[in-house]
Amino acid sequence: MAGCSSADKSEAAAEEDSKRPILVEGPMPIEAEKFAERLENVEKETSGTFDYYIGTVDDYPVIVAQTGKGMENSAAATVVAIERYNPVAIINQGTSGGHDPSLNVFDIVLGKKSVNIGSLKTGQRGEGEGIAPKEWIPMDLMASEGSAGEDPDAENIRYFKADKDLLAAANAVKDKHTKGKVVEGTIGSADVWNNEVDRIKWFHEKFGTSVEEMETASAAQIAKAYDVPFLGIRILSNNKTNGGEYNPNTAAVNQEYVYEVVQEYIATYLSE
Ligand code: SAH
Repeated sequence: MAGCSSADKSEAAAEEDSKRPILVEGPMPIEAEKFAERLENVEKETSGTFDYYIGTVDDYPVIVAQTGKGMENSAAATVVAIERYNPVAIINQGTSGGHDPSLNVFDIVLGKKSVNIGSLKTGQRGEGEGIAPKEWIPMDLMASEGSAGEDPDAENIRYFKADKDLLAAANAVKDKHTKGKVVEGTIGSADVWNNEVDRIKWFHEKFGTSVEEMETASAAQIAKAYDVPFLGIRILSNNKTNGGEYNPNTAAVNQEYVYEVVQEYIATYLSE
């Protein structure tokens, strides 16, 4: 272009600032710090117990949120980020426990779907009739505005679907993860750590879960409420179904892979 006036320049700068950031969420410090360290031009902002590292990747704005553990923290940290930063896409990532015996520690699950596996309704049993967790039925809290306890329409499993472009970007860089395989699957979330293999098997069969953790479905529900593209990416740090012992080093390895996914998403979907 002939002659770049200062007006043109400030317009370009304004356009740069107006780019909607990608939000990358991680619950624990070991699940967020590695990515945050790789951001350029970082500034940190805090809201409540949630930390936001605001920076860039390949000159594109990226925010790493350290949300804290569990469904409540991840939902709240996601709302704050959406309201404050208007993200173009959200990736919730971190560690998980295997529900699928064919998945090993260091394998990564791309959450084609996620589901709240704590959203359950028990059977009818009187005093002295005991408890029967295998009879519990899924409860869809978003099915209607009526009582989820009474409405038979609410007795369904509510899945939150991944955004297809985010999923495609993640699949495109699969080969960059060399310590295990990368597969599409279903992420189950609840504020519960299941160590009962028969219960894990029940979730795997009834809900089709590949892994469990404590955040993805909650952040996915909020992303859906605001119509923001979303993907969960979870590495197995443990797998009770095949003896996979907990390994905290998986958290850093997942962030390396997610960094590749973010670069790919920027290059393919966000550069003009
Ligand atoms: N404080 C607990 C551990 C909680 S850690 C204890 O001392 O036992 C839970 C974190 O790890 C959550 O952020 C969750 O997303 C993740 N996680 C990893 N494996 C998990 C599993 N098998 N079940 C549930 N959450 C898991």
